[in-house]
Parts: sequence; structure tokens; C-alpha cells
Amino acid sequence: MTEVVGACPHDCPDTCSLITMVQDGRAVRVRGNPAHPPTDGVLCAKVSRYAERTHHPQRVLTPLKRVGAKGEGRFEPIGWDAALDEIAQRLGAIAARDPQAILPYSYAGTMGLVQGESMDRRFFHRLGASLLDRTICSTAGGEALTHTLGGKVGMKVEFFAESRLILVWGSNSITSNLHFWRLAQQARRAGARLVCIDPRRTETADKCDEHIALLPGTDGALALGLMHQLIVNDWLDHDYIEHHTLGWPALKERAMLWNPKRVAQVCGVPEAQIIELARAYGTTKPAAIRVNYGLQRCAGGGNAMRAVACLPALTGAWRHRAGGLLLSTSGHYPVERAALQRPELLAGRTPRTLNMSTIGADLLRPASPEFGPAVQALVVYNSNPVAVAPESRQVAAGFAREDLFTVVLEHFLTDTADHADIVLPATTQLEHWDVHLSYGHTDVLLNRPAIAPLGQARSNAQIFRDLAARMGFDEPCFADGDEALCRQAYGNKVDFDVLLQDGFARLAVPDAPFADGGFPTASGRCEFFSAALARRGDAGAVGDGLPNHVPNREVAGAHPAYPLAMISPPARNFLNSSFVNVQSLRDMEGEPLLEIHPDDAAARGIASAQLVRVFNDRGEYRVKAHISTRARPGVVNGLGIWWRKLGVAGTNVNEVTSQQLTDIGRGPTFYDCAVQVASLDSA
Ligand code: SF4
Repeated sequence: MTEVVGACPHDCPDTCSLITMVQDGRAVRVRGNPAHPPTDGVLCAKVSRYAERTHHPQRVLTPLKRVGAKGEGRFEPIGWDAALDEIAQRLGAIAARDPQAILPYSYAGTMGLVQGESMDRRFFHRLGASLLDRTICSTAGGEALTHTLGGKVGMKVEFFAESRLILVWGSNSITSNLHFWRLAQQARRAGARLVCIDPRRTETADKCDEHIALLPGTDGALALGLMHQLIVNDWLDHDYIEHHTLGWPALKERAMLWNPKRVAQVCGVPEAQIIELARAYGTTKPAAIRVNYGLQRCAGGGNAMRAVACLPALTGAWRHRAGGLLLSTSGHYPVERAALQRPELLAGRTPRTLNMSTIGADLLRPASPEFGPAVQALVVYNSNPVAVAPESRQVAAGFAREDLFTVVLEHFLTDTADHADIVLPATTQLEHWDVHLSYGHTDVLLNRPAIAPLGQARSNAQIFRDLAARMGFDEPCFADGDEALCRQAYGNKVDFDVLLQDGFARLAVPDAPFADGGFPTASGRCEFFSAALARRGDAGAVGDGLPNHVPNREVAGAHPAYPLAMISPPARNFLNSSFVNVQSLRDMEGEPLLEIHPDDAAARGIASAQLVRVFNDRGEYRVKAHISTRARPGVVNGLGIWWRKLGVAGTNVNEVTSQQLTDIGRGPTFYDCAVQVASLDSA
């Protein structure tokens, strides 16, 4: 038995160091690396099944060509040469007319810098294909943080263990940030108070000292209400505000509009709870906020994140290493993206950019002077848009277009792969090289291949290298191998020998990065007022450059036909749409569920475990009702993201979500969604 050190590639802040045990060329088991402090020898239940996923009997192990209708999932094997020839010929013909008619579509199916954003980008830059705005998860929060703190920067996760008060805001950490949760529990054992702020009574809320079940899309109002109380009770750090912030007089004026009564009405929580939360936050030191991306998936998500991100500067929480805020640490990493992606291959061309969150609408758009050419070819990798993109009816209709040439690099026949003309077998993390950053800690990780590629699988980088050769791209950068790309990712900023030896290397990030200000903004201060946002002035309430509460477009109770608000947080045993086909995890998850409060169920005559339809003007989703106080009155929780073909009647929760975008960051608004629920008996 040999052991190989690698990295978890999944879209999770924890970026664990993995040890794969290999026997006779087969991955037998994967476990957490005890030598890597953030991992601490522990993996989540999902990735503990990684060997099962890698050796899954349904892995795609040869190139496949479609023989059935699009979406049917009927294919026959073809050789690599035939597959590459056909793709090169089809893409070449489209590129000869206008390469912008070709669209790459990828996200964080693997977070690796090599298999996710290196040779692929070189290939599409050289081709002159449309650019993709990769917004589907985090851009509203990420850009909001950048407009406030100056980047995706914040507390070091390990110091949450020393905090005295932790606000777990918009995060079901037990499910999606397990290693932070271990630190939070450590803090709690040492006497810290944990408060969960989330519309859903999550597994994390169960374990916190208090749960504030606010209405979806009202987090900005709550943050402004906390500011109000900090002001009227003078729980402010005046010295920190004076020396390290920008725009306080104007923000103070705005916050004074948000008294507890108004906040209670908007957020749907008791006034006393808001006052008590503010008292705890204003008087406990050090106080830390672990905010996650849940709260930014609505119309005002960017503004909400900005309001939350202002709080630690008001109380001077940043002065202590166990105080401040953490959304993402990815801005600390010195990634050499230009070296990996080679934008110079565009050779002066400026292709249009399409937003991945509106893929449904964009695939159905005809050519026009504003839009440019209709999309004629899609190359999908590290993503499953037919399951995960909003407003599935449009997405599926777009992918079903007979005149669209679609190539999908995949491990399995997902909902998206079922629509491909050609499926190419991609390696899993256990079969290729990669190098990683994290958005939840500050270590660089190297992933070495533990086993040889299964069947005829090739790494993403190898596939784009092969395609480049087929298309006659002869620039030397197309010859770089995967290990060489790993070395290029950080250049001389990270010692590659340390990565080879240990599997990880620590970045030199200060323990309390903003104790003395020094934010990476233009002003060097925490920018309550953002001149850049004020200048933009084209995105609703971001116009005045100060954070505000921007209400949801689809507020609970506002639409007579669709009175319930729906959020769609991840099911515990899946990671977005990954792992849905791993039988042991699906067995644990059971079936697609809609959590509905007993009062809302009773009003509709819905019994527990009954099949219901969840619908609005965008579509209809069929699912089993789970009557539970995990849902607050007026809000239903559609746990995601099931593959459509494994759901009820070929549907999943994104049948009803919308393609509207956030105020900042052009992100999707999955949690800004009004629906009605009805028993199928009464349909
Ligand atoms: S999904 Fe997250 S918690 Fe699970 S192994 Fe990967 S990084 Fe660790």
C-alpha cells in the first residue's frame, strides 16, 4: 500500500489535504492529512467517498459521440482521434466565421488552478472565443468585499478558536465549512457564544446558542440595524473609525434610519433579538463574523455583504487576531494568473463576455448587433449547468438546440453531458496534477496523481493541449505539461520544493491583518463609502456608494399567486451537483425534499412525505414535502442540487429560480424566488 498526498478539489472553503491509499494501482481509501493543520486529519463525509466516486462503475472512460436525441443520454464510444478531429473541424469552421460564437463554460467542479484555469484559457484566448463571466456562486459577495476591504481578504480561520462571540452568518458550516465549525466548537468550549443568522434552522443553527431566522434577503437591514444600536449605545471604536475608515458620517446618517422596530418589521424577527444581538456584538471582545455566500444570492446581495463587512471596523474588532470577519481568503494568494492563462494570446482582440448565470437566456438569443453572434458551440468542463444554472426550462431548451455543437468534459453522464454531441472522459483529482488556493484558509496545496488515469481519461489540461495541437496552435505555451503548469501557478512566490515535500505551504499572512488599518483599498481604509460604486451609479441602490438594504425582487407574501419565498441551500450530503450519483451518499440523502413549515403545509392541506409541486411563472418542480420547523413560516427550503434525471419527473429546484442578477457582481439570485406549493392531489 502506498500513500500519496493530494488536495481536495471541491468548491468548499476548507481545501483539505488528502492522503490517498493506493493498492495495485487502485485508490482504496482517501483520508484527511493529519500533518496539515487546517485539515487536522479529518475529511467530510462526501470526500471520504472519493475512492468510490473515482472507481464508480458509471465513470465515462472513453470519448463518446451522441447517437440519441439531445438530453436522451444515448452515446457510442469513439476513439480520441475521431473525437478530437471532429471537435477541431467543427470549432474551426465556426471560428472562421466568428470565434465569439464559441463559448467556454466552466466553474468550480474542480478548484485546481491547472485543471480549471490554465491550458483551457490559453486555448480559448488563442481561438478568440467569447469570454465567460464566472458569476454563478460568489461574485456579488466577492466584489462587495473588494469594494469595502479592498479584496477577498480577512481573518485567518484558526483564530476563530480564540473568539468570544462568533456570528455564523449565512452559512450552514456543519455542511459546508466543517473545519471552521470545529474551531467554532473549540471556541464555544472555551466559553464563546455562537449566533447563527440564517432563514433556515440549519444543523448549524441547532448547535449554536441562538438562531436568528431572518427573512431571505434582509441581511443588509439587519447589519444596518446593528450599526444603529452600536451608535446609540456608543459601542464604537472612535479611534479605529477615525484613522482606518472612509465615509463614516454618511454611513452613520443612513444607519440612524434603521431603528430596531423598522429592522424587526423588514427582517421578520423580534425587536428584542436585534437589540440583544447588537449588545453582544458591541460589548464582546474579540468578536468575529464567519459570513458565507448564502446571503448574497438575492437582489441586494452585494449591498448586504458590504453592510456586514463594515461592522468589524465600527467596533475595532480587527485590532485582535480573533476579531474581524472572514468571507474569503483567496485574495491573499499571489497567483500568477497571466502566466497560467496567457491573455496575450488574444492578440489585441476583445471578445464579448457572457454571464454564466444567464446561460439559459443567452443560448436562446439570436444574433443581433448588441449581442453579437448566436452561440453556436459550447465547451463545458468543471460544471453541470443543466442542473445548476437558474431557470432550468430555458437552460434545457438552450442545450437541446439541434444547431448547437456541445462538447462536455466529464467524469459522468450528468444532465449536461446528456445534451452533448461529444463527451470527453476527464480524470478525477486522484489521476492528475494540480495546485490549489483556498478561500477558507491561507495555505497553498499541491495535488499529486495517486493513480494512473482510468480507461482513456485525460486531464482537462491535456485535452485542451491536444485540441490546440489539432487546431494547429503552435505557440510554445501549448507544450507546457501539467506539472510545469503547477510550477507556473505561483512562480517564485511559493517554494515548489516545499509543496513537493509536504503537499502544502503556508503563506506569510499577518495574524491580525488590519489591526492597524492598511486595507488593500485605494484609500488604505475600510471603505464604507466606495467611490467606485458611486461612480458606477447604474446598479440600483449602489448608486450613492454607501451600503443599503436592497429588498428582494420576490419578497415573501408580496405576490398573491406565489406567496412563499424559497431558498435552495445545499443538501447535506452533496456539494452543489457533485456526489449526487454516489450511491452511498444518495442513500443517506434519501430523496429531493422541500422543507415547509407546519402552518404553511396545513394551509395547503399538505401532509408529510406527500409529493408536491412547487411552481411559479418560470416552471414547476416536483418534490416530496418535509413538514418541519427547519423552514420558517412563509419560507420554503428546496434542498439542492439534485440532478434533474435523478429527481422527480426530471425536475430539480432550479426549475423555479430566476436569471435576475445581483446589485453588485452580476451574480445569480437563487434565494430571491417566490413560489407557490400545492399538493399534487389538488393539482
Ligand atoms: S469538500 Fe471541503 S471539507 Fe470535504 S474534503 Fe473537500 S475541502 Fe475538506
